[in-house]
Amino acid sequence: MLVAGIDVGSTATKVVLLADREIHSALAPTGWSPRQTGTDTYQGLLRKLGLSEEQVAYVVGTGYGRISLPFIDQAVTEITCHARGVAGLLPGTSLVIDVGGQDSKVIKTGPRGEVLDFVMNDKCAAGTGRFLQVIAATLGVEVNELSDLAENKPPLPLNSMCAVFAESEVIGLLAANRDKGEIISGLHHSVAQRIATLAQRLGPPGKTAFTGGVAKNAGVRQCLETLIGVKVTVPENCQLTGALGAAFLARDFVQRTKNNK
Ligand code: ADP
Repeated sequence: MLVAGIDVGSTATKVVLLADREIHSALAPTGWSPRQTGTDTYQGLLRKLGLSEEQVAYVVGTGYGRISLPFIDQAVTEITCHARGVAGLLPGTSLVIDVGGQDSKVIKTGPRGEVLDFVMNDKCAAGTGRFLQVIAATLGVEVNELSDLAENKPPLPLNSMCAVFAESEVIGLLAANRDKGEIISGLHHSVAQRIATLAQRLGPPGKTAFTGGVAKNAGVRQCLETLIGVKVTVPENCQLTGALGAAFLARDFVQRTKNNK
């Protein structure tokens, strides 16, 4: 059986094709047209594998661009998909922290990955990947370099919570010859603090997973662990968790339909 999950996020589009034993994936920047990027990334992966759309039994779409996809069978929220993805990858997890390009979410989950409660921040860039991207661009580095540059550096506190003001603050710090690594360490601390405050609204964390593109940043992860007081597990290919959860839900749907026949 072949099923697919497509997560059209604000920053990146992720596609997962789940075959019986294999998982195939593709990732592309979402750009200005979620519909076009979602379609192209999905069809590109099928083409690369020598498959056609007709061979895919069910497709679940998620992410902010999910409603724009004309070819999906069902649209499901990212909250449900991340919870399902983590339940499949890291059974026993009771708290999922997903930090993407434009929002951060904390989800309390039950034993089968069902959503018990959640909180999210989608009004402000602070505490999201966007904040990291803006400051990385100001510093002239890539987001994937941030963690190494900040390793073992004491955090230089960033006073501005707003990405726009933080950008000006960082320009000022650079002009004052402050150490880039210390600025980045302060940035990690600031992002992690926002996420931790959100997480604390759901009570004491149990077994915790960290997903989304920002979970690739070990500096943010370490600050978060210190702030919430538990170790957080980052699944392999953490940025694909939502798309993988969507594919798991597609497979659940096909299996349920078969069983009901
Ligand atoms: P969305 O689903 O909202 O598009 P993602 O979960 O795909 O978001 O995460 C995008 C964010 O992940 C980016 O804003 C960036 O900060 C971060 N990111 C992406 N790749 C990396 C990387 N290699 N290292 C560190 N951070 C990364």
